[in-house]
This record gives sequence, structure tokens and C-alpha cells, in this order.
Amino acid sequence: MRQIKRIFVHCTAGSQKTTLKQLENEFKAKGWKSPGYHYVVFPDGKIEQMLDESKVSNGVKGYNSTSINVAYVGGVDSKLKPVDNRTEAQKDALITLLSGLRERYPNAHIMGHRDIWGKDPKKWQKWCPCFDAEAEYAEIGKVVPVQNPTLMLEPIAQVDTSEVVPVEAPVQEVVEPVKNNKKSFFSIIVNLFSKLIRK
Ligand SMILES: [Zn+2]
Repeated sequence: MRQIKRIFVHCTAGSQKTTLKQLENEFKAKGWKSPGYHYVVFPDGKIEQMLDESKVSNGVKGYNSTSINVAYVGGVDSKLKPVDNRTEAQKDALITLLSGLRERYPNAHIMGHRDIWGKDPKKWQKWCPCFDAEAEYAEIGKVVPVQNPTLMLEPIAQVDTSEVVPVEAPVQEVVEPVKNNKKSFFSIIVNLFSKLIRK
């Protein structure tokens, strides 16, 4: 299973009328074996999956193996200038989508594509997703502080419980009779000694 460290938010940087099929063709035309995103959110709020979460998408070079990439359709005006043109339905759908992803990947950080270059626009190689996703989704994407180990371990413990219990159970069953045998063996020797001493 992939370890997901980041959930990247993108824009498709094209018309808001772009269809799923057009996006698929766009990626194929680039010669990409995998699409750029796992999920795409359309202006009517519809969420479409392009790729299984276990597979690697082509969203942010150098980070893809540990990332989930999601995009909203839009992000540029008629002159292809960056603009946050998300519809209300898109904003709601993004929150639903990201909240679900956070539940599955509690330690993943939600950020915009451009945040990989920091907060200085001069350093952005792209404006994608054309809004401050890291700030907007800070509440959903809150990473539990490392300074508090108890809180940090909580989600990990919850995930592991079901897998660990059946493994532990038979181990205990094997261990306990051995302990009992040792005790009884020990008590037999004590008894023998006490009998010898009495004689
Ligand atoms: Zn992007």
C-alpha cells in the first residue's frame, strides 16, 4: 500500500466546460501513462474518479508516489489568466472529497500544487490551483502536531487494532500454557525438596 504524505489540489487550467473524456485525451496526448489526477470536480459539483487511489497519478513531479491529486475544472479566464472561478457546488464538492481523503489518510497534508514552491508568487512555476488551498483547507488538513505523541498515535492505533488483535491472540494462547508448565514444574521441585527435607 502507498504511504500518502500529501493531497494536492489542482485546477485543470482550462475551460469550465471541459469534459472527463477531454481530460483523459489531454493526458494521453501528452504521452502520460497515468492521468494527472485521481479525482476531478466539475462545476455542477459532480466528482469523477480518474484513477484508483492505490495507483500513482501524474500531478506534481517528484512527489507523485506519495500523493493523491485532485483537481477542479477551471482555474483560468477566457485569456487563460489564473482565476479562482470555482462554483459554489465545486467548493462544496471539494470539501466533501478532501474530508473523505483525510479520513483515509489522516497524516496527509492538504496543499495546493503551487505550495510546493512556498508562498512567494515569484517562486511559483505555476499558479495552480489559483487559490490558497493550504489556508482554505487548514481545518480539514490539520496535521496533528508532532510535539504531542499521544494525539499523533491515536489514528495509527485505530487503524492497526483490527489487524493486530488476531495476530496477538494465538501468541498469548501459546505463551500462557508454557508459563503454567514452568510454574508446575517449579512447584514439583519445591514439593520434592520439602519432602526430602521432612525425611
Ligand atoms: Zn497543478
